[in-house]
Amino acid sequence: MAVTDLPTVDVDVDVDVDVDLDAVAAEVDRFAREMLPADWVAAVDRDDPATLATIRSNFDGEDLWTRIADAGYVAPTWPKEYGGLGVAPRVAGAIGRALGRYKMPRFDNPVGVDLAGPAIMNWGTNEQKERYLLPIARNQEIWCQLFSEPGAGSDLAGLATRAIRDGDTWTVNGQKVWTSLGHLASFGLLLARTNPDVPKHKGITAFLMPMKHPGVTVRPLRQITGDGEFCEVFFDDALIDDSMRLGPVDEGWRVAISILMNERHQGSGSGAAMPGTVAGRSIGALIRRYAPVTDPVLRQRLAQLYIEDRLVSMTNQRAAARRRAGQPTGPEASVTKLFFSEHTQRLQNLAVDLEGPAAQAWEDGDRWLQNTVWSFLRVRSKTIAGGSSEVQRNILGERVLGLPKEPEVDRSIPWSEVRRS
Ligand SMILES: Cc1cc2nc3c(=O)[nH]c(=O)nc-3n(C[C@H](O)[C@H](O)[C@H](O)COP(=O)(O)OP(=O)(O)OC[C@H]3O[C@@H](n4cnc5c(N)ncnc54)[C@H](O)[C@@H]3O)c2cc1C
Repeated sequence: MAVTDLPTVDVDVDVDVDVDLDAVAAEVDRFAREMLPADWVAAVDRDDPATLATIRSNFDGEDLWTRIADAGYVAPTWPKEYGGLGVAPRVAGAIGRALGRYKMPRFDNPVGVDLAGPAIMNWGTNEQKERYLLPIARNQEIWCQLFSEPGAGSDLAGLATRAIRDGDTWTVNGQKVWTSLGHLASFGLLLARTNPDVPKHKGITAFLMPMKHPGVTVRPLRQITGDGEFCEVFFDDALIDDSMRLGPVDEGWRVAISILMNERHQGSGSGAAMPGTVAGRSIGALIRRYAPVTDPVLRQRLAQLYIEDRLVSMTNQRAAARRRAGQPTGPEASVTKLFFSEHTQRLQNLAVDLEGPAAQAWEDGDRWLQNTVWSFLRVRSKTIAGGSSEVQRNILGERVLGLPKEPEVDRSIPWSEVRRS
């Protein structure tokens, strides 16, 4: 998701400054070792990604995340009554890093944990908090984000899905697209136009939309990787109660901004100290696999990417330090999102180039190549999802460098009078 005018917002001040992060990591490590099969743990200890990949692919991990959720590790910063541990972000970071060492399968509810949960915490009624937060932290209900439309992506505020009120009921009509996990989600964070007669940012309202609901049709889209993880969603006279509204009527843009800030932060990996990876492996693994590289151009690209990888980590550390000091999110979130997504693409391109022609045809079962090519294709989306690189550059130009704002002819006229294709 992307908009050109994201403000900075205050983030939580870290309070658990006295917590011993090593002790936290040791406790989480113990938990992971007890939970995972012995051969999995041994492969991690030996740093043996090939064996680990085989063990993982034969592992029925259905209850893995349920157990992690039960321990409070899915959303550790959330209050205990909502399934978290009530700890500060730095402690949550230590928990995440300790779990990350064991390379468990991807957690399938990023929108629930990173976007919907915080949005409900900020904007929801007490009833909404009580109903929706615990099932997210317990990994029982998946969420999706119903923002983008065929005619509204970067220009999200131009969205056209309509919600019309009649007493306590809203009737929703329209279409969303690129809805990640829409086919698995129980609920979606929906933005809809509730007043077309005011400028585009002013007549939007946010809702919590049940996905298995009469009038809601979800159609998965096939991607270049062969996967189908995002969907088109159609609303045909879908009726929802006013109790599903999130935040004040016509003030959905403020709700959206707070969600987009979290998304940009999540997409940047800032504070997560997330190194660039190839097929889930670090740049170090790429160097180990191919060194010594004799081709001077490829060697130079490898060295350049190693430097970039260090820069990403350092910028993340700077962002984390700002948060620890209680300072608002700074320009590093946009810098990291822009730089990290383009860096990751360069990394995947190099991984394929290092393989040469083998990256076009490989033996069945060659997991390295299979994953490398899958990642090469998948990573195309990095410079689009969570705000395209062009839009990130606009944000940097305007907000960080203080360049003149992009002309916006439709900012102050009623949405209904804006010309659309
Ligand atoms: C993997 C993936 C997952 C996604 N998941 C979700 C999801 O779960 N929910 C959801 O709601 N959306 C999701 N999206 C949609 C995503 O937010 C949009 O694709 C993104 O905001 C860009 O919008 P768009 O595709 O409509 O492109 P457009 O906004 O139409 O942009 C087209 C091109 O024009 C450029 N452009 C647009 N405006 C400007 C400008 N002002 N200045 C310079 N260049 C500009 C763009 O950079 C781009 O190159 C996902 C997208 C991807 C790729």
